[in-house]
Amino acid sequence: MTNSEILSNYLKNHGVKPSIQRLKIYEILRNNVTHPTADEIFNHLVKEIPTLSLATVYNTMHLFEQKELVRIINIENHQARFDWNMKPHGHFQCNVCGTIYDIEIDTNQMNINELDEYQLEESHFYFKGLCKTCLNK
Ligand SMILES: [Zn+2]
Ligand SMILES: [Zn+2]
Repeated sequence: MTNSEILSNYLKNHGVKPSIQRLKIYEILRNNVTHPTADEIFNHLVKEIPTLSLATVYNTMHLFEQKELVRIINIENHQARFDWNMKPHGHFQCNVCGTIYDIEIDTNQMNINELDEYQLEESHFYFKGLCKTCLNK
């Protein structure tokens, strides 16, 4: 199977009809580790798919979110970014280059007793600072 056949099956298994546009959008997410915004995805694809609109990108991302193919992260104000990594993890954003890295977090190791009284529906862990690449410059 080719890579796009694998991704196409993956979308189908999540109840998403794999149109060319959806497939391309999902492909970018899988290949782009920096958690792109809808604008970034749009700019990346519009040369290849001139009929694509920003609204389509947004609609696709929200469909993907509903079908649990992506998570939306809001590490910056008013800027939704899309993350295909559905495993629990945190994020580190570099204040210099802006890159967002996945940080492994073992939530089972955390004892936050105060949370026992609440029904937890989501949790987000954000860290900011300087990444290794920028530190070494
Ligand atoms: Zn950096
Ligand atoms: Zn992530």
